[in-house]
Amino acid sequence: MTALAFLLGLAVGSFLNVCIHRWPRAESVVAPRSRCPACNGQIAWRDNVPALSYILLRGRCRSCGAAVPARYLLVELATAGLFALVAVEFGAGLAALKVALLAAMLTILFFTDLEHFVLPDQVTVSGLLAGIAFSPFVPLRAGVAQVGCDLLGLHPAPWAVSLLESLASALIFGGLLYLTGEIFYRLRGVEGLGFGDVKLVAMLAAFQGSSEALLALLAACLLATLYGTAAVLSGRQQWRSPLPLGSYLAFAGIAAIFCADDILNRYWELVLE
Ligand SMILES: [Zn+2]
Repeated sequence: MTALAFLLGLAVGSFLNVCIHRWPRAESVVAPRSRCPACNGQIAWRDNVPALSYILLRGRCRSCGAAVPARYLLVELATAGLFALVAVEFGAGLAALKVALLAAMLTILFFTDLEHFVLPDQVTVSGLLAGIAFSPFVPLRAGVAQVGCDLLGLHPAPWAVSLLESLASALIFGGLLYLTGEIFYRLRGVEGLGFGDVKLVAMLAAFQGSSEALLALLAACLLATLYGTAAVLSGRQQWRSPLPLGSYLAFAGIAAIFCADDILNRYWELVLE
């Protein structure tokens, strides 16, 4: 099963590469066959086999020899690795499908923000909707919705609490980031946060609920700070983060899929002890 998930991940990763290349350029991912951007030659199916073609052709176009970005191989291998990990941790089922979809979407966002400073709506908005749609069927960890229901003395069905958790988390975290961006803008007069980041955080929260979203947000800020500090200290960068925030958020979101449960369980054990 794990090997099957790996192969599926290679194929999906190949499609993610097309999305990463075309969505920031407002091109369709369905219509034309893939072409080499250097010589415009159509890429034959045998030169389009995930990972294998890249390795056999040593990362070059067969007709013109132009270098193919290493990102193509990286995305295919990363997606394959993530899908295999999902199969190991989540087995096969709706929960596995949900986190595999989330991991794939976050992989696209990581690279589009890194390369183009764009977080396409095709991912963030449909991700937000998909996260909400999954929530009644794949129960989210108890969070803000449960607290709200307890305070009001309400006892809805578990699927309804999970749906509420997804909606409320998306609203709260999206709103929180939007406000932070506004405050930053008023104080500094520069746009520190794009609306794409707001939609990405709302999507993460809708998919994973409030506790995991908070954890991912904190991890992303910590990573950005550490990386930024290291870059400044090594003298390579002015005082600004070398990676766009969306990439940190996407990375932290992927890590949270696999680690958040353990961390949160351990945290509550410590608190309740
Ligand atoms: Zn070419």
